[in-house]
Amino acid sequence: MNAPMRRGACPSLSRPMQTGDGLLVRLRPLGGGLSPQQLGRLADAAGRFGNGILEVTRRGNLQIRGLSAESAVEFAKAVDAIGIAVTSGIPVETGPLAGLDATEVADPRPLAQAIREAIDEAGLASRLGPKVSVVVDSGGALPMDDVTADIRLVAQRQGGWRLSAGGTAKEAGYAGPVTEAEAVKAVLSLLEAIAAKGLHARGRDLSLGDISGPVERVPSPVGMFGLAEGSLALGVGLPYGQTNAGILHAFAGMAAACGAAEIRFAPGKALLAIGLSADEFDKLKEAALSLGFVTDPADARLFIAACAGSPACRSAFIATKEVAADLARSASDLLDGSFILHLSGCPKGCARPAWPALSLIGVAPGRCDLLPGANEDAAIVQTAGGDAAARVAELALLFHQQRREGETARAFLDRLGGSGLAAHLSINRA
Ligand code: SF4
Repeated sequence: MNAPMRRGACPSLSRPMQTGDGLLVRLRPLGGGLSPQQLGRLADAAGRFGNGILEVTRRGNLQIRGLSAESAVEFAKAVDAIGIAVTSGIPVETGPLAGLDATEVADPRPLAQAIREAIDEAGLASRLGPKVSVVVDSGGALPMDDVTADIRLVAQRQGGWRLSAGGTAKEAGYAGPVTEAEAVKAVLSLLEAIAAKGLHARGRDLSLGDISGPVERVPSPVGMFGLAEGSLALGVGLPYGQTNAGILHAFAGMAAACGAAEIRFAPGKALLAIGLSADEFDKLKEAALSLGFVTDPADARLFIAACAGSPACRSAFIATKEVAADLARSASDLLDGSFILHLSGCPKGCARPAWPALSLIGVAPGRCDLLPGANEDAAIVQTAGGDAAARVAELALLFHQQRREGETARAFLDRLGGSGLAAHLSINRA
């Protein structure tokens, strides 16, 4: 079901996931956001029942880490007591500023709700795999292009919606234009087609026409956004997607004091404080900066996707967060926002971004692989674990010295390719 549900009915709350640092709960509030007071109480509960680490994911979901089998039950009760409603079933997701954004083409919420109801009526949830999802994108200031979805609807300036299926907006196969009136039926028929292929089928398995084609760089959720009713939203990033209960509680308190009506979780590992005046915006931004949040959309930390790594995850061969902090300082030239650097503690690749141009992966004790390009079968460069950050910093220096006028880091990496990378760096190729 996709109807509003409380504690126990949400699979994420009732079925936490085992990770290297205990159980993990992932939740997505109905409507996308929480009041600052709710967020403060939720942070307290995460500190009381978990290990105090909270994350906002690439999809804009909130994760609470370090729970035990017993404390997960208590945490779910706390979520219920705070009055947080969550959704379950096939996710039908809208953007983080849905219905508020001054620049959105159409409010996606009524269509998303109609799709949820149609999925329920058709009994599709039990016939589709657990990862199948639908995105209804309003085409505003924060598009959902980087969020993978099995079915995607994007509002068009000329009217109607663009329907595609499979992966990110860049990867999706184009299914055609649909009017608002046709959209629900068209989405249902694609979901039925996926269901007919079995529980392991995904949107990418549909035989659609052309790939949707290149997508411009997706705007950062960090910064200032104008809302339709005249107030502002402040987007702040969580460094590497992570914060702790005390810091989140403090931010929620400051947001309340500044008059924020709501806090939403945004794809791109960010929080959006909604409904601020210009003065309140500046005040909250300063408070967020002092709490360690990312407030500059050009901050290099936004362009590194790091998994939990060691010591949080027992599978990790490298301390990804430490390496990330090191690289944000030493390789900031390279981290210009044209690509996401992927840091993974082991080959599982939990935090793998949509189109990594460079990945650093712990593969064995004391050994990392540096993978240029999105193709993991391409040239692999091996480096000692302790030298990994130094090798990327060396690459940043190379970019600084050899970039062509106007060339982005991503274009530079593509131009160099795996063999060029190995030739320029003093490392051994596998
Ligand atoms: S990628 Fe490996 S090391 Fe990183 S969080 Fe996942 S399992 Fe742990």
